[in-house]
Formats: sequence, structure tokens, C-alpha cells
Amino acid sequence: MADELIEGCAVLAKSLKDQGVQYVFGIVGIPVIEVAMAVQREGIKFIAMRNEQAASYAASAIGYLTGRPACCLVVSGPGLVHAIAGMSNAMENCWPMIVIGGSSERDQDKMGAFQEYPQVESARLYSKLTCQPSRIERIPYYVEKAYRTSIYGRPGPVYIDIPGNFVLTQVPAKDVRYIPRCPPPPKTCASTEDVKRAVDVLSSAKKPLVIIGKGAAYAQCEEELRSLVEGCRLPFLPTPMGKGTLPDDHTLCVAGARSTALQEADVILLLGARLNWILHFGAPPRFRADVKFIQIDISPEEIGNNVHPAVGLCGDLKSVLAQMNSELGQRRPAFVLNSQSDWWKVLHEKVAKNRASVDQNSADKALPLNYYAAFDEVNKIIPKDAIVVSEGANTMDISRTCIPNILPRHRLDAGTFGTMGVGVGFAIAAAVWCQDHAPGKRVVCIQGDSAFGFSGFEVETVCRYRLPIIFVVINNNGISRSFSEEVFNSLEGTDRFITHPPTVLSPNARYDKVLAAFGGNGYYCQTPGEIQKALTESLANTKQPSMLNIMINTMADRRAQARIFLVGVYTAKQD
Ligand code: ADP
Repeated sequence: MADELIEGCAVLAKSLKDQGVQYVFGIVGIPVIEVAMAVQREGIKFIAMRNEQAASYAASAIGYLTGRPACCLVVSGPGLVHAIAGMSNAMENCWPMIVIGGSSERDQDKMGAFQEYPQVESARLYSKLTCQPSRIERIPYYVEKAYRTSIYGRPGPVYIDIPGNFVLTQVPAKDVRYIPRCPPPPKTCASTEDVKRAVDVLSSAKKPLVIIGKGAAYAQCEEELRSLVEGCRLPFLPTPMGKGTLPDDHTLCVAGARSTALQEADVILLLGARLNWILHFGAPPRFRADVKFIQIDISPEEIGNNVHPAVGLCGDLKSVLAQMNSELGQRRPAFVLNSQSDWWKVLHEKVAKNRASVDQNSADKALPLNYYAAFDEVNKIIPKDAIVVSEGANTMDISRTCIPNILPRHRLDAGTFGTMGVGVGFAIAAAVWCQDHAPGKRVVCIQGDSAFGFSGFEVETVCRYRLPIIFVVINNNGISRSFSEEVFNSLEGTDRFITHPPTVLSPNARYDKVLAAFGGNGYYCQTPGEIQKALTESLANTKQPSMLNIMINTMADRRAQARIFLVGVYTAKQD
């Protein structure tokens, strides 16, 4: 026992296990093959993917869904470079993740070793912490620090570099000091004075609005949020991934009156959302010039970005909302927005108008289908508690309106970074998590045909692990608007590099057959009946993934079907 030796890869795997890591997504190769095997020996699940990019997206999604980081394990050089896609996406979204990169042997540093690359320096821009353990015995120290850094304060990715010669080198087991599991992040509160001021400002509002961002979803503050919103009868508006923190079908949800709500609100309670492009920088003309923000964020540096708030509350949303509820509870009379107020009337009218317009488009079942009609069929059948992954341009935006979320952290999309190609990785992560923590819950991955293409080959991973994800590819033959098969064929003989607009992809591409090639169930759908049948069968199949390749109008757009198309020559052809 006293002379027992342990390999570096085993020290690393045990350290991850000690910290509570449950999942490692990655691709093996030199020098991390043994790391993946050591991880499995510890009982940590290793999900072998096909590209580090999708693996890094998957690991980051676990961080968002659970508040605990998963790992992404990559090989040296190009492996890390591919994973930087997921690191930057996680950084922009404020999601925790631990990336572990094998690197070339230390003794060969700067000698032009196999896949030698300045990995620690490269990762620095995309992580809260980058490190290379100084010795194998010290790996547990770095793993705990990395784990802790990823979830304390504003969450984000971290990078640990493991030189290849660390993996199989043995050290005396007695020299390794493992670090106990890091406790959950401390619950930081705002100052009592600031909470009082925030409640003063909120109580003075004539047209209040609550904006719920994905930081609120991440903070798992739904209980406190519900008390506040329902107690004061406040209209609320979720951001794309804030959707579901309170149910989209809640009577106080004014998502259908988004523009009006933003434009006319006099006091906005901003919860875990940045005033970036998604919220039009908090500036006119999308907001009143005199709007008062009450901003709550875990990151002090975020307070005041783009707009100075009337009150900035720095702390964890779960704790700060509890503070606000307590302060509101002590006020007599209690602040409750009158449901007959002019503000509610305006918002209700807008919501109803928007609903009518969406319903009208959804009811238009002319073939080829428009987006709304296709989503209407999907929404009628998918379970209301499904985790919905969505990406693409129109596909993502329109599905957000048509497919409600009723549960928190049940929507994953292109996010702050607007990243296309995240869908299949996110869906894999969600499905793996469901198997362990929510058996029977389904994952529905809705993607544009272009978005699917970025990481489409990961369906092999999906089929190999028998993850019963339901993919819905909304296929309009390209990016935004495109060519019908007829127009595509009519350009036969021309120089396609010149005559094809860059938005055009293959007409009627059979993405369903890509899934079928690996054993999944592919469906090619053109009509509402075909969609209904395919979805019903897909739901009944809990052992295999399915894909609905839904062909829609190549000219389909938001609301009314578009009539304008690209440049003149194509317009003539298309008409
Ligand atoms: P959205 O895209 O939904 O608008 P953002 O990603 O822009 O949301 O903003 C999320 C914000 O939430 C970040 O500024 C982040 O610092 C903050 N945040 C993350 N976790 C917490 C938490 N536990 N409590 C409060 N704020 C949080």
C-alpha cells in the first residue's frame, strides 16, 4: 500500500469524480485515450462524439441545465481549436464547463512536437481560468479550482491543460492529496438599502415590466420569481432562453406584446439578462428614454452596462428576489398592479392581436407549408414538458413564438453568440441528462436545414447511444430563402458558382435518410397528415431517435409569405 503507484490519468479521473462531474463529452486520440478510460473506471459517463465542436456544445448545455459543469475532453492542437467553438459560446452565454485538453509532451515543448500548439494561451480568451498543473500530484488542486471557478460568481468555462507525458506517468499514491468537493456557490445578497430603493422604484411604476433572462433560469429562482410576479400582478417578458422560467401560457406573460411592452414600460425589473443586442441595448427607440431599470445580476461589472439603472442589485437572483419579496411583504398597502389599469389593457390588446395573426398563419395549410403551419402541427403533438432545442434563423425565431415552454431550462438555442450548429450537441446533452434524471422526458430538436448541416453527422452519436431525440428539420432548401427544385434544375448548365445565390442548398435534401443510415427513423413530410403520423410514431418509439424532414415553402418567411427574393434574375425565375 505504501508503495502503491497511480497514473496521472487516474488522478485526473478521481479528481473529477470527487468534484461531482457526471459527464465527459469528447473524442479520444493521442494523448487522452487513457484519460477517457480512467474516467469510465470512475463511473463517470463518457459520451464519444464525432467532432470536438459538438462535444463542447454538449458539455456546456449540461452546465446550463444543471448549474454544475460537465467536461469536454479533447486531444492536443486541432482538438482544442475545435473545442474553442463551444468555449466561446459558453463564455458568451455565461455557462459553466470544464475543458480538458491533452497537450504535447513537456520535454518536447517548442520542438515542433506532434500537434504542438500554444493551448493555454489560446484558451485564455475563452475561459475564466486556464491552467496547466505543475505536477501530477497537484492535479486535484487544479481540478477543484477549475470546477469552483466555473460556477462561482458569473458562470463560465475553464481550461485545464494536461501534457501528454502526465497521462501514463506514475507517482506514489500517498503523495496525491485529493481536495474535498467544492460546496455550491455562496448565495450572495444585495444590500438592504438597495432592496428598499428597488421596491420604492417598482412601487412607483405606472407601467412596470419584468424581463426574465436566462440568468434567472440558470439561478433556479422560479419559486421566488413566481411569488414576486404573481404577488404584484406584474407583466413579464422572457428572453429567448428565459422562456419557461415562468410558463409561457401564464396569464401575466406578455411575450405576445414584446415591442409594446419594451417601448412603453416606465420601470423595468431586469432579471439575469444583459442589455445587449437581444434587448436592443436598452436604448430608444425600442425603450423609453426615461425608463428606469432595476437591474439584478450576479456580476457587479454588468450593472450599468449600456444604461445606468435607477437601482443596481448585485447578487444571486434566488437570494435577491427573496429579499425583494420580504420587503414587498412588509409594505402596507401592498403594491399590486391593477388588472383593469390602462397598461394591462394595452398589453392585453396587443397580445390578442398578435395571437390572431399567428393563428391565421397557422391555419393556412396551403402546400408547401409555411413555418407557422408546420410548427402548429408539431406543437399539437409534442409533450408540453419536452426540452426544446431550436436553431436556425426563421426556424428558431418563429418556433419561439409557436412552441411554448412551460418549464424552466427547457429551451436551448443559438443564445447570446447566435451560434449555428449547437443543436445536435445540445440535444445529445439534454437526452443524456434526461436518461439519468428525468426518464421518459423527450427532447425535441428543431433546426433549419442549414443549421442541421453544421453538426449533422453527430446523429451517428445519437443513434449509437440510442437517444430517443426527435429531430425536426424545417427544410426550405437553404439559408433564409432559397430555390425550389424546379428553379434549381432550370439553372442546369450555368456556372453554379455564379448563378446560385449563396443562400441556396440542395433542393429536397433527404436529411431523414442521414439518420436512417445509422438506424434511426427518418420521415419525409410535406403535409399536416404526414407530420402528425410521423410525430405520433416518433413519440411511441422510446428506444430510437427519429427525424421529420419537413419540406416547407422555399419562400416562406415571418407572418405573410414573402414575395421579394434576392436579385432580379431569381425573382423572375421564382415567380
Ligand atoms: P439573456 O440572453 O436571456 O438576455 P444574458 O445571457 O444576456 O441573458 O444574461 C444573463 C445574465 O445573468 C448574466 O449577466 C449573468 O451574469 C447573470 N447571472 C448568471 N447567474 C446568475 C445568478 N445566479 N444570479 C443573478 N444573475 C445571474
